[in-house]
Amino acid sequence: MPQQINAYAAMSPKGKLERYSYTPKPLGPDDVEIAVQYCGICHSDLSLLNNDWGFTTYPFVPGHEVAGKISAVGSNVVHRKVGDPVGLGWYSKSCMGCKQCLTGNHNLCPTVEGTIIGRPGGFADRVRCHWSWATPLPAELDTAKAGPLFCAGVTVFNPMVQFAVKPTDRVGVVGIGGLGHLALQFLNNWGCYVVAFSSSDSKRDEAMKLGATEVVNSKNADAMKKLAKSLDFIISTVNVPLDWGTILDTLAPKGRLHLVGALAEPLPVNVFQLLTSQLSVSGSPLGSPATTAQMLDFAARHKIAPIVEEYPMSQINEAFERLESGKARYRIVLKNDLV
Ligand SMILES: [Zn+2]
Ligand SMILES: [Zn+2]
Repeated sequence: MPQQINAYAAMSPKGKLERYSYTPKPLGPDDVEIAVQYCGICHSDLSLLNNDWGFTTYPFVPGHEVAGKISAVGSNVVHRKVGDPVGLGWYSKSCMGCKQCLTGNHNLCPTVEGTIIGRPGGFADRVRCHWSWATPLPAELDTAKAGPLFCAGVTVFNPMVQFAVKPTDRVGVVGIGGLGHLALQFLNNWGCYVVAFSSSDSKRDEAMKLGATEVVNSKNADAMKKLAKSLDFIISTVNVPLDWGTILDTLAPKGRLHLVGALAEPLPVNVFQLLTSQLSVSGSPLGSPATTAQMLDFAARHKIAPIVEEYPMSQINEAFERLESGKARYRIVLKNDLV
């Protein structure tokens, strides 16, 4: 087995990605190594590349939407074997002993490790993780499109499980991008009445094709008024401030606004609006390995897949520029061509 791992890394904040090799530590007894076939790009790869959150370590190897095959297993690993098709997302290890891990909430473990936080990620020929976070890929899923399910996919699927969204619910999706276009597909197949909120009319037809029952321009006051007090659940995928009061007005009593977009600004919320209709506002990170497996199974059964633009990994800088332009429809995946 080749010892060195070949990757793409940035050497400084906002730096270009360049070829970079490193020698990994001996494989931990509970860890596995994945030979990367494809790896999606997510907006948080860009945020960390730019050190927007202030804790990026350089050389920085991004990439946390991996699809590939197990290439090595540690001495304790019995649940994965070499050759298994798997994926790896935002998290790569949790302690397995705390209350959160023991109750199946591994993504809420206080010491959960991020795949690209202080350690090298998946824009590489190989990447490592604790065996439990290498989730088996159902055979029906296309490996070339599976990567984004491990970050964008589980991020929007997990709240449907956590808050027991029902098929009879009327659910809003705010932001029709990388996350939102998957949320529309999941919710439609779940059986819900799905309202896609978009500030641009250009995405209307596509949103309908992806599973929206109706598309509402959130800047159209009359259209928003018609929705007043009608939605049971809203999932927001945007990372920019919106008129949250108007959006909360569309929630039915006991409704919930759930945020999964990494909004940097504090959320202004009118408490009277919350208490008069008993509304909730919440957020969640990704999902546990069990929920990830459940999501993959659901996606395979209903033929749910991200719409992707594929680049060879050698064009990683062009791919990041495309992501930054906001024009990608809807997710970018890099095909490993490292030799
Ligand atoms: Zn991500
Ligand atoms: Zn734990």
